[in-house]
Amino acid sequence: MVKICCIGAGYVGGPTMAVIALKCPDIEVAVVDISVPRIDAWNSDKLPIYEPGLEDIVKQCRGKNLFFSTDVEKHVREADIVFVSVNTPTKTTGLGAGKAADLTYWESAARMIADVSVSDKIVVEKSTVPVKTAEAIEKILMHNSKGIKFQILSNPEFLAEGTAIADLFNPDRVLIGGRETPEGFKAVQTLKEVYANWVPVDQIITTNLWSAELSKLAANAFLAQRISSVNAMSALCESTGADVTQVSYAVGTDSRIGSKFLNASVGFGGSCFQKDILNLVYICQCNGLPEVAEYWKQVIKINDYQKNRFVNRIVSSMFNTVSNKKVAILGFAFKKDTGDTRETPAIDVCKGLLGDKALISIYDPQVTEKQIMRDLAMKKFDWDHPLHLQPMSPTTVKQVSVTWDAYAATKDAHAVCILTEWDEFKSLDYQKIFDNMQKPAFIFDGRNIMNVNKLREIGFIVYSIGKPLDP
Ligand code: NAD
Repeated sequence: MVKICCIGAGYVGGPTMAVIALKCPDIEVAVVDISVPRIDAWNSDKLPIYEPGLEDIVKQCRGKNLFFSTDVEKHVREADIVFVSVNTPTKTTGLGAGKAADLTYWESAARMIADVSVSDKIVVEKSTVPVKTAEAIEKILMHNSKGIKFQILSNPEFLAEGTAIADLFNPDRVLIGGRETPEGFKAVQTLKEVYANWVPVDQIITTNLWSAELSKLAANAFLAQRISSVNAMSALCESTGADVTQVSYAVGTDSRIGSKFLNASVGFGGSCFQKDILNLVYICQCNGLPEVAEYWKQVIKINDYQKNRFVNRIVSSMFNTVSNKKVAILGFAFKKDTGDTRETPAIDVCKGLLGDKALISIYDPQVTEKQIMRDLAMKKFDWDHPLHLQPMSPTTVKQVSVTWDAYAATKDAHAVCILTEWDEFKSLDYQKIFDNMQKPAFIFDGRNIMNVNKLREIGFIVYSIGKPLDP
């Protein structure tokens, strides 16, 4: 029986390995992590991450051919293929702080693999890493091993949180990069056979190592660039009377452009887009390509601009101050169907409103109060002062409350601010919400999910991104 071990039981490692276990009953899959609470949660009824469809798969496979464990060394030693899916955040200190990828976790995983291995292994980069990382990992593995042969593959993950299981079942493509040597080709073939259990072979792309590593950064940069492009257009729409939804539709029907990822919003979030673009910017700078670095930097700058613009619109609409006014925040996760709040635009919007002394009341169906308070205590990235922490003052903490439903959050509020496109927000009783709010009652729709005309009929003053303003 082929044995797979995945180091890192997070948003990628957990779902990816659960799907491999489901689709490949003849493969034994162990997902290992240094975090005891995370592994305990994977072995419990309350999984550590929320993804539609994930719980069913885990229940079906756990204990049969899917195992979650903190015994990292044992499972690595026994595995034929070791996936490494540890976090690769942005460096916070030292050389490249605020831009470069922090490969500390990757390096320690590689050293451990080298130390404990007693048989040849394929080591798979599942994490998103800078191009050329495999070269560094090879050095670590080769240096420490005792005659054991390692083949490194790059197999970046393209799943999106919220649709992880559907994406893993039906990926647009699986990408595998390897060394262009007989051993490299053999390793690529071995991994290809794993995926071929459910992915059509013509959708499994094989490339050299560096192309695979760079493709992941490129794909995220292109996706984020589309969002920043449409968001830049939304600002122009508001100044000219064009409607961004109509513009997106008209542009997206061009088959060369396509309609996906063209929804204007308060901005992109998530743990990957900003981190991976910062990483790309850093790699360009290190390779003596400042103009290319500057080009990609703009994608993040427009994202920041969009979030600031949204906050300014709220404050200016509410007669230039939100001081002591209650603003209900509907949604804190960076997108619907996930409880992940990493880099969510809600952090910037809430901090902007708190800075103007608003009283904010937050509701999100999947995000806990603890998560929200932790996130609001973090200072966000800015180009001039990268990544320093600035805890909330005790006075600011008093401005924040977290509620158990949307009606509690909006009661007596002056404004409602929709920051995540949760389906349940579309079907709330907005008449009831309006009746229980201060007047005039404002709605700021940061995701363009609401029917503006219906809300205006009820009596709300509505701002929707990139749409004509209230008459
Ligand atoms: P995560 O933080 O949810 O999970 C990483 C896990 O690795 C953590 O549980 C951590 O405890 C564990 N870990 C770190 N060092 C370890 C070690 N030495 N031994 C054992 N466990 C260790 O991260 P994630 O969201 O799953 O992302 C993982 C990688 O995949 C990142 O590089 C990310 O950029 C990339 N990625 C993420 C997504 C996404 O949607 N989250 C999508 C595609 C790619």
